[in-house]
Formats: sequence, structure tokens, C-alpha cells
Amino acid sequence: MEMPESFRFETNIPLAELTSFRVGGPARFVLRPQSYEEIRQAIEYAASVEMPVTLLGKGTNILAADSGFDGLVIRFDTPLHEPVFDGTKVIACCGTSLTQLSRETVKRGLSGMERLCGIPGTVGGACAMNAGAYGGEIKQILKRIRVLRNGRDEWIDVKDEDLGYRRSAFTFPGTVALEAEFELAQDDGTATETMQSCMEKRRAKQPLELPSAGSTFKRPEGYFAGALIEQCGLKGYSVGGAQVSPKHAGFIVNTGGATENDITALIEHVRAVVKERTGVTLEPEVKRI
Ligand SMILES: Cc1cc2nc3c(=O)[nH]c(=O)nc-3n(C[C@H](O)[C@H](O)[C@H](O)COP(=O)(O)OP(=O)(O)OC[C@H]3O[C@@H](n4cnc5c(N)ncnc54)[C@H](O)[C@@H]3O)c2cc1C
Repeated sequence: MEMPESFRFETNIPLAELTSFRVGGPARFVLRPQSYEEIRQAIEYAASVEMPVTLLGKGTNILAADSGFDGLVIRFDTPLHEPVFDGTKVIACCGTSLTQLSRETVKRGLSGMERLCGIPGTVGGACAMNAGAYGGEIKQILKRIRVLRNGRDEWIDVKDEDLGYRRSAFTFPGTVALEAEFELAQDDGTATETMQSCMEKRRAKQPLELPSAGSTFKRPEGYFAGALIEQCGLKGYSVGGAQVSPKHAGFIVNTGGATENDITALIEHVRAVVKERTGVTLEPEVKRI
């Protein structure tokens, strides 16, 4: 399994270094694309030699395997160009930091992204996950998206059914989101304050000082996962280096040296206890490599 020399790839990089959970064994090849065309070529090349390929943004919603990934990781976590503003519209590269983009939009007197500030991933990861927080959601503002699928690079209009709660039609495998066009509104004078208050709530409530992948579970209909887990007495419960955060029970944190096995065992324990005591089934939000 050789890679063409024209690709500037690295070899045997621990996924623990590429993901916010700080867990995971080595990825055989890691490519940080320098152009959209390079992403297309890398996927085409991998298919031609039957090399497994996976796509990462900033890796903030990922639980990677202790055994690593014997294939190509495309790490699309840096912008290939600056965002382009046109009135209330902005087009951003999917490798752009969502937090940086939302700050920039607020600075330019625009509203619509201020509640997304603080979500630590890329624009592409946010579109793929339909990321949201504090009443704001990608779905409310994403109008068009440039995608690579089946070897074709095209802009498509986003339809209502393309995005749902923490899911979208633009997730790898199948699709790579390259650029996103958002329609925002003129700020009515409250965007800066809203952004600051959302950031403040994050700092106060979330265990940002420890590695995690954010909320471990999706919000079950009619409940909050964190409240259910706390109600079951699981706050602080741990398996190896994986712990239900004592600060926010909706987060599993890596207290040091957690393995994928520790985290998986803890997820399964939490799901079993919550199901038994409350009847509610928790579904993991984190994606696996
Ligand atoms: C401390 C903390 C707080 C968080 N708070 C929130 C929150 O408030 N709300 C929220 O929704 N999430 C939150 N998250 C989770 C995470 O940040 C989001 O899901 C984020 O959108 C993931 O972006 P990413 O670039 O890190 O994607 P990754 O984690 O790298 O990837 C996530 C998935 O998206 C796919 N993907 C990534 N980029 C692309 C692309 N360009 N095209 C197609 N598919 C792609 C990947 O293949 C993978 O399946 C939090 C995480 C942490 C660690």
C-alpha cells in the first residue's frame, strides 16, 4: 500500500493526537489536504487500491479505536481560503474553525452564528453533524453546500430533510463537504452579548479542562441525557481512565490514559443503568473510527 509522492502525507500518527478525546492508536497515513482537488485525488487513489479511507475535521466528535486505522485519514481541519462575505451571505471553506467563523460574523455585524461559537470543530464537521447549541443550529442558516460525492464536485441547495438532530446527508463516507454557504441576518445589536453569554455557559457547565468529545449521547426525546445519568447516580462513575464528568454528567471525560475500551465499557454501563432505571434508551452521539 504505497501513496503517490505528490501527496504530502504523514505515517503512523496516533489518532489520540488528532482527536479531542485523546484516544486511539496509529493511523497508517494522514493527509492534510492543500486543495479541494487533492481531496478528490486522494479518495480516488484510495478507492483504486482498495485502501480504507476516513475523514476527520478537528476530531472533536470522535472515539477512535485503540487498534488505530489501517488506511488513509484525510484531516480536513485547516481552511483552504478565507471566508467570502457578501451582504448577509458568507461562503466558508469546510476546514475553517466554526468558532473563528462565528466570531468573525458577529464582528461584521451579522447574526445567526453567535450561539454556535465555542463548538470546537470545523465548519465541515458542523454541517456533517448539524451541530447546534443554546437554540442555534446549522440547519437554520445553511443554504448551499459544495460537496464531493461519487467523484463529482458540485454545489447543491440544502433541503429541509437533509438535516436533522445531529445528523445530515453530508457526512462522510459518501460525501465530503468542501464549502458551505450560510445566510445570516443583520445583527439587531444583541449578537455579541448572546455569543459571550453562550461562551460563559460553556465555561461554567462543561468540563473543558479535560479531553472529551462533548456530549456523549444524543438528547433523548423529552429528556436531557445528562440529567438522566445524574439521576441514576452515575456522576463521577469511572472505568479505567474514562469518567462520567462530575461537572456535567452528559460528558464522558478522559482523566488520563483512557483507552477506547474504557470509554466503550463506560458508555455501555451508563446506557444499561439508565435503561433499567428510567426506561430511556441513550444513543451515542460520538462517531467511531
Ligand atoms: C468540549 C466540546 C463541546 C462540544 N459542544 C458541542 C455543542 O454544543 N453542540 C454540538 O453539536 N456539538 C458539540 N461538540 C461536538 C463536536 O464539536 C461537533 O460535533 C463538531 O461539529 C464536530 O466537528 P469536527 O470538525 O471536530 O468533526 P469530526 O469530529 O472530525 O467529525 C465528525 C463527523 O463528521 C464527519 N466530517 C467531518 N468533516 C466533514 C466534512 N468536511 N464533510 C463530510 N463529513 C465530515 C466525520 O467523518 C465524522 O463522521 C462538542 C465537542 C467538545 C469536545
